[in-house]
Amino acid sequence: MSRFPFSINPPLADLRSLYNGFDAPLTALDCGQKCAPHNPSGKPFCCDICQAVPAAYREEWRYLRANTDLWHAWRGDECVSGAKDESIKLQAETPKNMLLLACLGPARCQRSFRALSCRQFPFFPYVTSDYRFLGLAYDWEFEKICWVISNLGMVTEAYRQQFVETHDRLFAFSQEAFDSYYTHSERMREHFASLRRRIPLLHRNGNFYLLSPASERLEKVPVERLPPFGPDKENSR
Ligand code: SF4
Ligand code: SF4
Repeated sequence: MSRFPFSINPPLADLRSLYNGFDAPLTALDCGQKCAPHNPSGKPFCCDICQAVPAAYREEWRYLRANTDLWHAWRGDECVSGAKDESIKLQAETPKNMLLLACLGPARCQRSFRALSCRQFPFFPYVTSDYRFLGLAYDWEFEKICWVISNLGMVTEAYRQQFVETHDRLFAFSQEAFDSYYTHSERMREHFASLRRRIPLLHRNGNFYLLSPASERLEKVPVERLPPFGPDKENSR
């Protein structure tokens, strides 16, 4: 349920600069309006604490706590329908240098204080088995509910570019961050291999590819070849 099981720890002084350089809209339209009608709560899925719990590293939390009232440390009771067992599991899975957060909700979002985890959703930097940051892959747990994942062609060029630049900067000073994404990419390869599926990739060169999880061979494809999921799959029939 946690969206961002990564362990990153950039210096506090760089956070505002990282935020400023990673502010382009994900899509030209408000994608929250596309997914929210499919969520019983009426909220965009990634901003609904019952669907996804944001995580931030502790340096980031110190910055946010000092500069905004948008966030509080997650208590585990924010989602009234949430199961207690799930809360305990989430806390246990959170790396020690990170903590889970909850915000005031989408109606009271403060855009300039969105965490890095908000800005990168639904993507993470894909790292190959030979340690190359190749581009953007998505968090597959959200395939069926995130409209953007079903409409990858709608992601703006500016967003893709800022995503790559931000993570290049992050990796320049945090080997730990790179290693975390390396591990997460490995998990994605295992997951897709078990399903006999290829991984959709928004390559840092601006093109779309399907990547074979076993060989990591890339096939350049038109974006129309990338499949929709969930309600978008129904609509595409
Ligand atoms: S990123 Fe996905 S889940 Fe979040 S608002 Fe957009 S479509 Fe909805
Ligand atoms: S801070 Fe804004 S973008 Fe991030 S989860 Fe909260 S409402 Fe969504």
